[in-house]
Amino acid sequence: MNDVYFFGEGKADGSASDKNLLGGKGANLAEMINLGIPVPPGFTISTDICRYYMERDAYPDDLENQVQHSLKQVEKIMGQTFGNFDNPLLVSIRSGARKSMPGMMETILNVGLTSKTIPGLITKSKDERFVYDAYRRLITMYADVVMEKAACIKPQEGEGIREKLDKIMESLKNRESVTRDGDLSIENLKELCDIYKSTIKKTLKSEFPDDPNTQLWGGITAVFKSWNGKRAVSYRNIENIPHDWGTAVNIQSMVFGNMGDNCATGVAFTRNPATGKNNFYGEWLPNAQGEDVVAGLRTPNPLNHMSCSNKAKNLPSLEEIMPEIYGKLDTIQKQLETHYRDMQDIEFTIQNGHLWMLQTRVGKRNGAAAIRMAVEMAEEGLIDEKIALMRVNSDDLDEIMHPMLDKKVEKQSKILAAGLPAGPGGGSGQIVFTADDAESWHKDGKQVILVRSETSPEDVHGMFASEAILTARGGMTSHAALVARGWGKCCVVGCADLQISLQEKSLSVNGITLNEGDWLTLNGSNGNVYNGQIPLEAVNLKKNKYFQKIMEIADSHRKLLVRTNADSPGDAQQAREFGAEGIGLCRTEHMFFDPERISAMQEMIIAENETNRRKAIMKLLPYQRGDFYGILKAMAPYPVTIRLLDPPLHEFLPQDDDQISRLANELNVPMEALNARIEKLHEQNPMLGHRGCRLGVSFPEITEMQARAIFEATAQLVQENKIILPEVMVPLVGSVTEFIHQKEIIDNMAEIVKKETGVEIEYLVGTMIELPRACATADKIAEEAQFFSFGTNDLTQTTYGFSRDDIGSFLPDYLNHKIIPIDPFQSIDQEGVGCLVKMGVEKGRGVNPKLKIGICGEHGGDPKSIRFFHETGLDYVSCSPFRVPIARLTAAQSEINP
Ligand code: PEP
Ligand code: MG
Repeated sequence: MNDVYFFGEGKADGSASDKNLLGGKGANLAEMINLGIPVPPGFTISTDICRYYMERDAYPDDLENQVQHSLKQVEKIMGQTFGNFDNPLLVSIRSGARKSMPGMMETILNVGLTSKTIPGLITKSKDERFVYDAYRRLITMYADVVMEKAACIKPQEGEGIREKLDKIMESLKNRESVTRDGDLSIENLKELCDIYKSTIKKTLKSEFPDDPNTQLWGGITAVFKSWNGKRAVSYRNIENIPHDWGTAVNIQSMVFGNMGDNCATGVAFTRNPATGKNNFYGEWLPNAQGEDVVAGLRTPNPLNHMSCSNKAKNLPSLEEIMPEIYGKLDTIQKQLETHYRDMQDIEFTIQNGHLWMLQTRVGKRNGAAAIRMAVEMAEEGLIDEKIALMRVNSDDLDEIMHPMLDKKVEKQSKILAAGLPAGPGGGSGQIVFTADDAESWHKDGKQVILVRSETSPEDVHGMFASEAILTARGGMTSHAALVARGWGKCCVVGCADLQISLQEKSLSVNGITLNEGDWLTLNGSNGNVYNGQIPLEAVNLKKNKYFQKIMEIADSHRKLLVRTNADSPGDAQQAREFGAEGIGLCRTEHMFFDPERISAMQEMIIAENETNRRKAIMKLLPYQRGDFYGILKAMAPYPVTIRLLDPPLHEFLPQDDDQISRLANELNVPMEALNARIEKLHEQNPMLGHRGCRLGVSFPEITEMQARAIFEATAQLVQENKIILPEVMVPLVGSVTEFIHQKEIIDNMAEIVKKETGVEIEYLVGTMIELPRACATADKIAEEAQFFSFGTNDLTQTTYGFSRDDIGSFLPDYLNHKIIPIDPFQSIDQEGVGCLVKMGVEKGRGVNPKLKIGICGEHGGDPKSIRFFHETGLDYVSCSPFRVPIARLTAAQSEINP
């Protein structure tokens, strides 16, 4: 069995297609070698070994031989030997899972440095300072990753070994009155390494190993173990990455960006990951190791003139300082993007004027950037339209539809501080200083902003729970920036004026002190930070040409139509702007809550006889007619499905004594009579009570009034030369006889209005399918109904027997115990509720193959459910206006990739 895959000098055992086995990093290193790109030689231990180790806490017998064999090949290429006193090879050990999990697992650099190999490396490099700098980095990483984390030692917040060692370095710098790490002398560094080792021994009760092989295997095992580290597990839970994939381990010969002024290191993106613009974009640091850029301890320089931010504009770019190498890098980035046909996130190191590529992977990007790149790459011919559509996901759209800060208020607000705009959009919240606090405050329903010096992968759960993230240090490729961008979260990094006191739970910035719980607002699109709360405003998508274009492409690839749920002309208009092709559900009950209307409604409800009821309800006619006129007009020429009154009538009546007595006065009825009527309307289980079409059966005058209002509005609009197609929808039908009863009333009213107005009216009468019995008898209903619309909210409620209003009390237990995988009111339960939907469709179309069928429950805006409805053969989904673009995209994706 081959578990170790070599790569180096034009030859690689693996390739990009081996991601499952070699992880993304290992597979791409192999691929870069295959493309002739300079990559330091190394080898990858496969994910199989990770799984093997997880199961048995041991390695297969021959793994050591395989590692030795590959190490020999690396030594040969490098002309160095691992552990050799005179000419030692140093290696890096890095994780690499199938899917990128940035910063979630561990890296150890400079492995192989010991008291015996240090002198040899000093002689070879002629740079004692560099060697001790490398050594102190190794000690720090090894102590943190291998001796603390992999040994399952759990220090208090702020008391970890890495923090301790960092503090020692800070105090040494203070003592020496230097600000930069690089200004520490050789003697300082030697002293630092000694203090590090004694601190490690005292804190972790074991010695830092002085043997290269112990370091190597300690490192390999720690990286495998980091797969099951707390932060990696929580990241996988959030990102839905299976826990049984395992990580690969990459061992690669070290190249150094910190060996002097002709050395450097950097991180870059083949296009701007924040805007999507087709610009080579990145950051670099002279005389530094890669972790310096990612850790955000130093503000990196811009890679080129296109990467300049306000903060970095005075720092020299690589393009200026090393033009020749920059040229090579530019050629390689173009080659990589063309090869992978996607934006790449690359890491490079320059050692003594020689460029080495350390990594390439598909780069994370925010929503706006994902959309722009997809559109432009399709226009450039790099990808086709179908791939472009698959490159955008519902979260990307959701993100660009996210609110920004109210510009007017922002303009008038004083900027408290500024940092780098790492994640776009606006965010307001109460300040918290630890990830755990962020999580627990969020659980208590609070809106929080997590403020950190810099974030580390340990903070991901708190970052996830926060509205926005603010850090004092770090660049656009720092951990906070990468993670926030991946989630499309508002984030400002590198806000250098910020002083944070974890003890006091406060921050001070430019003379102002803010405490935990105080409000802060961030603009992640320009990096500004404001004291207090600034309102957010909706995004103007009309101006976003990339959004418009991707929607246009989506529309040309989809068959499933997208309507909206709207019950006001404003919502209808908004939904049209988002591309809705009609209204799939206009809930009429929301129209009765205006003060003038509610009293007519109440009068109608408490009326003792039909005459009084009719008198009361006819007061509502002009209002309803106006409502329907507005909505039908806003949607013309698209169809509008208007649902007859659905909820139980007591929802419209007052509950407390004061209100009841006021109503009794208003309606001039005795208090007792009103109380008795309210008592009579009380139901034990109103959701299964006198609601839906049952109301129309008991009180046909309600149906008559609503039908009249619809047809009169239609007639008026037809006279105004509008194309109007109302679809009258009967709710909560379980038996065809209920439907027939209601349909007769509606048809009669249509005839009356036609006669009265002399206008020819076109309309349909159909039904909600939201009860299991309706699904089971859909063939009978389809003989009478002209359309079906699945009400998957009630259908889920009545299929599961879960109250849609009370599921919150037990849902967390059900999810925790994996009794159900997801809230069935959010994403359709395909197995149960979905089975009834399929039955309804088959039976309905069996009788009437042309039957128009849609869905208007909340699931109409859920991507996974939309795919299911597409597969089930529905004609349309209907969702809230802000989900319409997501539904359009998902409909196209379902067509392309069923
Ligand atoms: C449904 O039940 O799915 C539906 C759309 O109707 P409502 O949510 O108004 O009950
Ligand atoms: Mg319903």
